[in-house]
Amino acid sequence: MKKSLWQIYSQKQLDELSHLTENYKAFLDAGKTERECVTEIIRQAELAGYKNINNVTQVKAGDKLYQDWMGKSIVLFHIGEEEIEKGMNILGAHIDSPRLDLKQNPLYEESGFAYLDTHYYGGIKKYQWVTIPLAIHGVVVRKDGSKVQISIGENEGDPVFVITDLLVHLSSKQMEKKASTVIEGESLDILVGSRPLVGEEKDAVAENIMNLLAYTYQIEKDDFMSAELEVVPSGRARDCGFDRSMIMAYGQDDRVCAYTSLAAMFDAENIKRTSCCILVDKEEIGSVGATGMNSRFFENAVAEMLEKMGNFTEMKLRRVLANSKMISSDVGAAYDPMYSDVYDKKSNPFFGYGMVLNKHTGARGKSGSNDANAEYIAQLRRVFDENEVKFQLTEMGKIDIGGGGTIAYILAQYGMEVIDGGVAVLCMHAPWEVTSKADVYEAYRGYKAFLEQMSEK
Ligand code: MN
Ligand code: MN
Repeated sequence: MKKSLWQIYSQKQLDELSHLTENYKAFLDAGKTERECVTEIIRQAELAGYKNINNVTQVKAGDKLYQDWMGKSIVLFHIGEEEIEKGMNILGAHIDSPRLDLKQNPLYEESGFAYLDTHYYGGIKKYQWVTIPLAIHGVVVRKDGSKVQISIGENEGDPVFVITDLLVHLSSKQMEKKASTVIEGESLDILVGSRPLVGEEKDAVAENIMNLLAYTYQIEKDDFMSAELEVVPSGRARDCGFDRSMIMAYGQDDRVCAYTSLAAMFDAENIKRTSCCILVDKEEIGSVGATGMNSRFFENAVAEMLEKMGNFTEMKLRRVLANSKMISSDVGAAYDPMYSDVYDKKSNPFFGYGMVLNKHTGARGKSGSNDANAEYIAQLRRVFDENEVKFQLTEMGKIDIGGGGTIAYILAQYGMEVIDGGVAVLCMHAPWEVTSKADVYEAYRGYKAFLEQMSEK
């Protein structure tokens, strides 16, 4: 086996690594939902000199622009000197993560307990979500259009919430069940109270909760109909291991690639081609909806930019997109020796050995994948080697075991070159996921080299 990144980094690189990963942890803490991520990204982008494209009338080389879509997805552009028709260098990651969403009529009472009913979002192992402290993040929009931001369960003094599990003493039947049914979707309701309102007879506990919500947030029961409240693990991103070589946090799929792509976008210097960073919602449920990658918001943002360059024609738009090159920044499944039988050691990524490139993703014979062109991979190898970026060409586990997809195939529809490239993750989609700090840093280095040096040919 080659050397681990930890064995080759200089002191300067190690210092850069720790600076980047501290900022990454702060980003994770600031954004536990797609909406919170977009708010934080806009804050950082404006500090870095980016302007909302809607407030700009003319666009020229050197300009830094962003457009957010419904506060859940965002595209950033840094305009290069090169003729835009020759294409852009695009990084695209997603900022939604698996979680539990509150249903639209969630509050109910049973046997002296008040619960909020949930419907899970994305691929989860349901049994992982019981008996851990949970927080609620999101928005409630009142009928008059006013909006309440909610984030409860993260600060030291905040209460947290929980999904109960059966005590082991009474679990002989439950323990016989398959892992997929041991906790059912309809049982993933979060416990939010047990104290009845004085003087109330019926549903006195739930009434008390509703009173507290009315008092704290000025919302009423019907307002849940127009709310997006997401239940996520409570707690901050932490260093993991005695050697602090890893990060344990919620939502690293795919905020690890979102953050490193964003940081590369901010730091890339002397770019020739226009740089673009897409940070998008809804990947975990199939890139659907107005804020998912299948929506036209990205194409529209490019059209908007061309229009403001005084340059828009339908033909130009198509050329810009077709001639672009993209890294679909998404995570890979790190080799886990505890579960070695599902991996092919020869083609799975290892912790601390660099950026993960996937020629193809998908399942059952590459179905649903993108399958990057050999010519493009060769070009990427040149860029990475020239910049001493370490990478691993990988797949997700053994062929017939499972698989997964990303947004790569959607951008490939424009005819552009696309490859999946990101960071290896342990226990992906679990409430707490683990990454290697070295791989986080190396992905950042790889994305930056790509933005600076990927060329037309
Ligand atoms: Mn992902
Ligand atoms: Mn995922």
